[in-house]
Amino acid sequence: MTIAYARGTRSLGICDRCGFRFLLNTLKAESVRGIKMNQRVCDSCYDPDHPQNFQGMKPIYDPQALRMPRPDIPEAPVPPYVPPTIG
Ligand SMILES: [Zn+2]
Repeated sequence: MTIAYARGTRSLGICDRCGFRFLLNTLKAESVRGIKMNQRVCDSCYDPDHPQNFQGMKPIYDPQALRMPRPDIPEAPVPPYVPPTIG
């Protein structure tokens, strides 16, 4: 059984952050880490969920090692510079 709601195109709602009155259908739901926090706020109070909040929630595929690498050939060490002595 589904519950039917009225459209409410002219109904008003109170912003949960600033307390001003807006059209109910213009209020946005806020979420933290993708979970809705049961807050409806206006456009100026809306704080979108920052992508940094989703760290560790998605697997990251970033391998660093190479298959069959060919290391660089080491060069002979350069002797330290000794200035010529005069006299
Ligand atoms: Zn507001």
